[in-house]
Amino acid sequence: MLENEDTKRLGKAGIEEAPVRGWDLHCHTRFSDGTKTPEEFIAEARELGLHGVAITDHDTWNGWDRAVQAARQYGMPLVRGTEITAHVDHTSVHMLAYLYNPDDKGLARMFADTRAARLARVQEMVKRISQDYPQITWEAVRAQVREGSQTTVGRPHIADALVAAGICSSRSQAFATIIATTSKYYIHVPSPTPVQVVQTVKRAGGAVVLAHAGDRSRNKYLLSDDRIIELIDAGLDGIEIWHRGNDPDQRVRLADFVQRYGLLATGGSDWHGAGKPNLLGENLTPDATVKLLCEGRFLSVA
Ligand code: AMP
Ligand code: FE
Ligand code: FE
Ligand code: ZN
Repeated sequence: MLENEDTKRLGKAGIEEAPVRGWDLHCHTRFSDGTKTPEEFIAEARELGLHGVAITDHDTWNGWDRAVQAARQYGMPLVRGTEITAHVDHTSVHMLAYLYNPDDKGLARMFADTRAARLARVQEMVKRISQDYPQITWEAVRAQVREGSQTTVGRPHIADALVAAGICSSRSQAFATIIATTSKYYIHVPSPTPVQVVQTVKRAGGAVVLAHAGDRSRNKYLLSDDRIIELIDAGLDGIEIWHRGNDPDQRVRLADFVQRYGLLATGGSDWHGAGKPNLLGENLTPDATVKLLCEGRFLSVA
């Protein structure tokens, strides 16, 4: 086992052994496509004995206040975060942003633009789907959106409407068929580039981590080495290594960037409540890494 400064950033065990204790830094609630409330999320994390959690709903911080209140009530350390949608080279890229200034104008504009684009895109997909499945109206999809205009809308809400109408058996089955990226109904979300996301989050005083970049089930083409180096040059803080979607060979590839460039290696479950098989706490980030991730940011751990 190597003991230099860089490998410490991967944790003592390297990537071979995923952390068994620590923080779950990737979790969704009803404020995007999760099925549980922030209160249920914090209560479940407490029951599991997690050291801490991050709330990371897509393109919003709308769930933060309720999560902070619940975190105080349950004595569960909480990192306020957001999973930001980006796109480059026909590749969909997700970036986890943590502890940034929520009043930052650049970020506010980015979220407003993406959320508006997401809404228009879901409505257009619904229009296409309803030509073949007339039950799938915008009303039917909106009925699946759990926190009204506070919720970031996406394909999962279409999936839930397809399940409610009895057309699909589960969200995952909908994602494998009618709303798959390869389906004729699919439209991608117009989004900023990953470099723009890194720059905007850094300006807002936050930390930014590249999420599940080694998941081949999400993209035909993964982010290239050059694109990853571009992000590191722009100020990327870390890479999510321990995520169920990252293929084993991709974990090695991503860990190599972590070591070579002295980044942080994180882990998270990508928990969506009942919306996905992922279990809360199934992937974790070591305490020491969380400490480095949180140091010197605009916000502190709540
Ligand atoms: P969208 O961002 O609207 O294209 O939708 C993709 C999102 O759906 C990703 O963030 C996934 O995490 C989420 N998702 C939720 N449930 C599922 C599921 N069962 N299978 C695949 N993706 C899912
Ligand atoms: Fe999601
Ligand atoms: Fe994601
Ligand atoms: Zn996620």
